[in-house]
Amino acid sequence: MKILLLGKNGQVGWELQRALSVLGEVVALDRNVVDSPYGQLCGDLADLDALRQTIRIVSPDVIVNAAAYTAVDKAETDRELSHRINALASQVMAEEALALNAWLIHYSTDYVFDGSGNRPWVETDAVSPVNHYGATKLAGEQMIQASGCKHLIFRTSWVYGARGNNFAKTMLRLARDRQTLSVISDQVGAPTGADLLADVTVLALQKALNCPQISGVYHLAAAGEVSWHAYARHVIDFSRSQGDVLAVETVEPIDTAAYPTPARRPLNSRLDTQKLRDTFSLHLPDWQSGVTRMLMEISGK
Ligand code: NDP
Repeated sequence: MKILLLGKNGQVGWELQRALSVLGEVVALDRNVVDSPYGQLCGDLADLDALRQTIRIVSPDVIVNAAAYTAVDKAETDRELSHRINALASQVMAEEALALNAWLIHYSTDYVFDGSGNRPWVETDAVSPVNHYGATKLAGEQMIQASGCKHLIFRTSWVYGARGNNFAKTMLRLARDRQTLSVISDQVGAPTGADLLADVTVLALQKALNCPQISGVYHLAAAGEVSWHAYARHVIDFSRSQGDVLAVETVEPIDTAAYPTPARRPLNSRLDTQKLRDTFSLHLPDWQSGVTRMLMEISGK
């Protein structure tokens, strides 16, 4: 089996390089042009013609799209490019997957919802994004679904990886220097590890390959829920318990309204994962176990 992975160096893409390798040959690309045994390939999602050509050259059995325009605030002003990368490039992948009878694996977000209420969102809930990033991700989902290709779209939330920047690392950096931190307490979700996303992708894909009727949208996040404020407290408490010396004395809860950003954020990022767990017979670990593992990994302990 041949798998084309796009966005190989993002948080999720990096973990997918490892996890997908047990399923078959992985042709992994970032946005650069590379020479390969197949010829010249280009994984730049902003260049739709080159992307289409690359898929045709590789002719994969599975396309896994881990690339996306993820700068949520910047997307508000960078509208055309974020739409091209998150929506139009997904459409190109879907059209080519259909022509090849290949599977398309794609990642989306709880930001397709408006964040109202406090009930976890199910896949059939009405969508209504509150920012442009969410609108581009929704458009991408809809284009894939409309194409008729076999697809798994995983909507997830609050993704972190041990590699690169993440919320926990930022909190620890600030906690080393500052006595008081102010962290948003009215947005609730589940921090979800890129490694968990990659591992579930492999298991789900394995089942889907023999079961085309399970094509569809699935919510995928770690179990449990937490606010950014309680998440920050958890990270700081754990780090202290490991002997780290931190200057922070107070972690102050603040409302979203007190921290204006160019893009609005939904308050309710809870995702109901029942459909995924039932369809693929999977257990999703609680968010604390993955975060603890990541903290141990970045501390080198
Ligand atoms: P990252 O921002 O870590 O990775 C995104 C990757 O996309 C980067 O490697 C980036 O490359 C690449 N990329 C951006 N523009 C292009 C382009 N024009 N052509 C090719 N590659 C490009 O994101 P995550 O791994 O966290 O996200 C994976 C998926 O999960 C995305 O679909 C995202 O929308 C979704 N998601 C993420 C959440 C989060 O909290 N991060 C929450 C919910 C959903 P480069 O480094 O060169 O810019």
